[in-house]
Order: sequence, then C-alpha cells, then structure tokens
Amino acid sequence: MARPGLFDEKVKAGDPVRLRASRCRECGRTEFPGLVACPACGSATAEVELPEEATLVGFTAVLYPPPGSRVEVPYGIGVARFADEVCILGLMDPGGPELEIGMMLRTVAIVVGDDLLTYAYQVS
Ligand SMILES: [Zn+2]
Repeated sequence: MARPGLFDEKVKAGDPVRLRASRCRECGRTEFPGLVACPACGSATAEVELPEEATLVGFTAVLYPPPGSRVEVPYGIGVARFADEVCILGLMDPGGPELEIGMMLRTVAIVVGDDLLTYAYQVS
C-alpha cells in the first residue's frame, strides 16, 4: 500500500523514486504534494516529476514517536532541496553515514510499518 499520488506506486522497496509535484503554469511555483491551483496566484498547475537527486539542507532525529507513527524511534528526518525549486521533508533511510548539510541524496522507496510504501532519502 502506498500513499496515493506521491510517486509511481509500481516501484518496489529500494527502487529510485521521482516525487510528483505541481508547477504553476503562470508563476512557476512548485508544490509538493501537488495542488490543482497555485497557492500564490491561483492559476492552474501542471504535474511534474522531480529528479531523484536532491541536496540535504536540514535534518534532525526523532526520539519520541508522534501519534500514529508507523516508524520505530529513533529515526532521522531530512529536508531535501530539489533543483532549487522546492524543499520536501522526508524520512532518512536508516543505516547511512553521519549526515552533513549539503550532502547529495537520492529518493528511494521504503516500506514502513507493516505495508506502507513511502519515500525516503538515502545519501548517494
Ligand atoms: Zn502561481
């Protein structure tokens, strides 16, 4: 089971993922998850696939699970900047090296909980 619409749901755990975002046809603003209308100018948007690669611009460790969390603590979350367009929060794939701002990441599919297919960032 995957959260619908965030990426091609035919991928398997470990596969590279291209997140689906929206780009405004007028002002170019990019949003993730994608929106039908631009929140800045109200114009129509088009669906775009972001690149697999991104840059790590922030991270932290989660030590106490938020309500409803399917991920065992502790785990890392990162903020990735895609093509200087949009920054997206995501899980850090566990088992990677110590994190530093500016590291290159790739977006991959992972399974959390019993069966939820979602995306995470892996240091590339
Ligand atoms: Zn716009």
